[in-house]
Amino acid sequence: MKNVHFDTSAVHAGGHASVKSVSKVKPLYQTSAFSFSDLDDLEDYFRGKNDFLYTRMNNPNQDDFAKGVAELEQAPAGVVTSSGMSAILVGILAVVQSGDHIIACEDLYGGTYKLLSDELKSFGVETSFVSFSDAHDIEKNIKPNTKLIYSESVTNPLLRVEDLSGLVTLAKKHGITTMIDNTFATPYVLQPYTQGIDLIVHSATKYLNGHSDVTAGVVVGREDLIANAKSKMIHLGCNLGPFDAWLASRGLKTLSVRMERHLTNARELARQLKDTKGIKTVYYPEFVSEKGNGAIVTIELDDKSDVHTFFKSLDWVHIVPTLAGVETTVSYPLGTSHRALPIEVSEKLGIHKNVIRISVGIEDKEDICSVFKTAAGKALGL
Ligand SMILES: *Cc1c(COP(=O)(O)O)cnc(C)c1O
Repeated sequence: MKNVHFDTSAVHAGGHASVKSVSKVKPLYQTSAFSFSDLDDLEDYFRGKNDFLYTRMNNPNQDDFAKGVAELEQAPAGVVTSSGMSAILVGILAVVQSGDHIIACEDLYGGTYKLLSDELKSFGVETSFVSFSDAHDIEKNIKPNTKLIYSESVTNPLLRVEDLSGLVTLAKKHGITTMIDNTFATPYVLQPYTQGIDLIVHSATKYLNGHSDVTAGVVVGREDLIANAKSKMIHLGCNLGPFDAWLASRGLKTLSVRMERHLTNARELARQLKDTKGIKTVYYPEFVSEKGNGAIVTIELDDKSDVHTFFKSLDWVHIVPTLAGVETTVSYPLGTSHRALPIEVSEKLGIHKNVIRISVGIEDKEDICSVFKTAAGKALGL
């Protein structure tokens, strides 16, 4: 810069190098806003000729990740948010308002349960929590103001597989919108939009990013609903930071290869644990899709087993209150993800004190099996 003092130079030095080459990987747009050369240029944004204005509203890295997930889910549109919870929130608010009613499956992720039972309730949105094992039970709970049916494609932690086409048929009959949390299955295994589900939500903190270094969420689905969800995201300030969006896009590139290994390992672990002394029940879905059944295996130890000894005997596997990373980890649903559920509900659902959720990583499968078999033996006092 010419004709300015050092202090001014220091702020503006370098400026914006214009780059003609195309970088192999999408650059990181770590900026809170975009700049305009004159008022016409600014007007162009509002005429739709210019893409970006302010990062809370949109940013190339956020767009990239949203488009990526929408493509994988075969849905027409998507919006990214700061977490799985905020994705669930803006997705739901795209459909309901004060005075409306939601029907949700009773075995929900604990955070979603709290969002519906407390937070949204205080804004006048009522939710009935229903067993989704039988479509009649759902239908019985439909009211004139029911606007949304909400469930999870594979539930946490007992891995019940939702009958999506059954839900769609029922919802269509009554003109109700459907929304599915597809975090556990991932679009590698299941694409609920192709079965007629209106909105699909993910905690991208889990498999989509896959490396346990980002908290993010994404909603994809019907274009009109996503436009609505995007407006909520903007005005509630649930935007995802550009760097986290950039990292999540990087994670997405390896979703296929990670899932392939996760699924193979999980299938083998479930098989071996079924014949392991000290393990009462192995929860692993029989069929989610041709691609596989997911990479979470939940077990219940024998009544006589000591759950503390089990956790202490896990060698290189650690207790981590999340899932879906490349490392194998375990969690204790009663103490973390489902702590928010009333104890009667947990008991009824089968989330007992000896229930352990295993997030199967991408390590060698025999090493994984051996750690859990040894720990089950020790917990039983063998
Ligand atoms: C983790 C999780 C969430 C919440 O996501 P955050 O990214 O932690 O906000 C929602 N649903 C399911 C199924 C989850 O596993």
